[in-house]
This record gives sequence, C-alpha cells and structure tokens, in this order.
Amino acid sequence: AKQSGRNRLAEFVPAMTAATQRRAALERELRRAIDGGQLAVHYQPQFDCASGALLGVEALVRWRHPEHGPISPAEFIPIAEESGLIVELGSWVLRHACAEVAQWQRAGGPALTLAVNMSARQLREPGFIEDVTRALASSGLAPGRLELELTESVLMEDVAGALAFMQSVRALGVRLAIDDFGTGYSSLAYLQTFPINQLKVDRSFVQLLPQRGETIIHAVLALARGFGLTVVAEGVEEPRQLEWLREAGCDVVQGYLLGMPMAADAFRERFLEPATA
Ligand code: C2E
Ligand code: CA
Ligand code: CA
Ligand code: CA
Repeated sequence: AKQSGRNRLAEFVPAMTAATQRRAALERELRRAIDGGQLAVHYQPQFDCASGALLGVEALVRWRHPEHGPISPAEFIPIAEESGLIVELGSWVLRHACAEVAQWQRAGGPALTLAVNMSARQLREPGFIEDVTRALASSGLAPGRLELELTESVLMEDVAGALAFMQSVRALGVRLAIDDFGTGYSSLAYLQTFPINQLKVDRSFVQLLPQRGETIIHAVLALARGFGLTVVAEGVEEPRQLEWLREAGCDVVQGYLLGMPMAADAFRERFLEPATA
C-alpha cells in the first residue's frame, strides 16, 4: 500500500508543477496583455422581460493569448486577483467599456445601461472611486447608465468597508447590483443595509426552471419587491425558462437564448444598426 501511495504521489507532483508553471507564465503574460492590446471587452445584451426591449449590456473581459488563443476569464480573473493585476485590468475594462457604450449612444443608438463586474481587490483600492469618476467624465456616459456588479462574498469579506465603498459609488449616481445572488454565504440582513439597486439571480437557479428552482426565484422576486430592487435572471437558455420568468414578473433577462456575449462590432451590427439591407 505504501508503495502504490508513493507512486500515486510521484504521478501527481509533475502535474501540479505544470499547472503552477502555466499559472506563473500567465501572470507574467497578463501583465503585458493589458498594455499590449490582447484584452477585449465582449458585450452580452440584457432585455426587459415584459416588453423584450434592449435595456443594456454586461461587459465581459476576454483575453486572446498570442500562443494559447482565447483564455477563459474563469482562469485568468483569479490569477489577476491574486497577483493584484485585477486593479489595472479592472480599470482598463471600465474605461474601455464606458467609452464604447457612450460612443454607441452618440452614434444614434438607444441609451443603454452598462454593467461591469468588480472584484474584491478593486473595492479596497483607494483610487477606485476616482477611476470611476474619470471613466465617466472622459467617456461622457451618464453615471446612472453605469452599474457595478458585486458578489455576495465580496460584500461579506469586509462589511463596513463595502458599505462605505457602496455609499461613495451611489453618491456618484452609479448603480449597484448583487451578482450570483443566492450562491453566497451572506446574510439577508445586508439587503436593508447596503444601497443596492438590483439583484442578479444566479444562473444555477434559472437553469433548473421550470421544473425546479421556482421556489427560490419566487422568493428572490418577493424580497426584491419588498426592498424596491429590480431582478435580473441570468443564464436563460430555453424559451420555457423565459416564459416562466415573464409570468413570475421578473424585470430583466440575459442568457444565450437572447444573445451571447459578443465583440463590440458584432454587437453593434446585430443590435444597434437598423436593418437596412
Ligand atoms: P459572471 O459575472 O457571472 O458572468 C456571466 C457568465 O455566464 C459569463 O461567463 C457569460 O458568458 C456566461 N453566460 C451568459 N449567459 C449564459 C447562458 O445562457 N448559459 C451559460 N451557461 N452561461 C452564460 P464568462 O464571460 O466566461 O465570465 C466568467 C466570469 O468571469 C464572470 O461571471 C465574472 O465573474 C468574471 N469576469 C468576466 N469579466 C470580468 C471583468 O471584467 N472583471 C471581473 N472582475 N470579473 C470578470
Ligand atoms: Ca456578472
Ligand atoms: Ca453572474
Ligand atoms: Ca459568476
């Protein structure tokens, strides 16, 4: 038994090393990617659940690595967070997305809301509020058109710090949403403490619809109504999920059924340029 245990360990060690090496390499390369034009923002549309009108977009960062090709944010965001690079990366996403969405509107498109994801590390960054102010000023995007998405775990890490941060964000006129709602370890009590505008029901609940998940989503909708918040359902993939959400009175929907995250050009072509052909 000892012998086979040792063999298993021996097989495991090189694999760990390879993963660790890739991680270290990605960290070095991510540093260059931010300045080197390897990052892009993709946009996923969000729609009014009742009318089907386009309301806004969620900005989702993409990394096109020169050798490895596209790398998922699920892989490089954690690396960016641990290395502190998320501050620079997040600031780039914010500036880039604000500029692009404001430009669409200047070109005659509808006024859209822009949702941007935030990491815990960015909240603690003293210059962050200034970053937001500058991104809004230089792009011309109205503060009320920007919405920052925070996860429950980000909020619970440092409740007092998060509250102060949120109050400064709201003072700018910028909106706040709780992302992946229902998956964190947080207390519901924060709903009456934090100045939030919107809840995003996690897609793990939406994807159970219509057979399961109903109780939780009904409860989220009731909670949101009680606190005067709107609800976004993310991860809508099937028509019957959309139907259920419409009947339940959900406010906003987002998901592959309605639109994938798209490069800016693709998004403009599909959603912003009137059909002239
Ligand atoms: P998230 O904020 O929960 O974003 C939603 C994720 O679900 C996106 O994955 C999106 O492409 C995917 N998605 C959208 N609709 C559907 C659907 O109908 N079905 C399924 N199965 N998936 C759907 P993505 O783009 O790979 O991003 C993963 C995560 O990376 C995001 O999760 C977010 O936490 C993080 N992330 C992305 N961009 C940024 C960023 O600029 N800053 C920070 N801090 N995090 C980011
Ligand atoms: Ca999000
Ligand atoms: Ca989410
Ligand atoms: Ca997520």
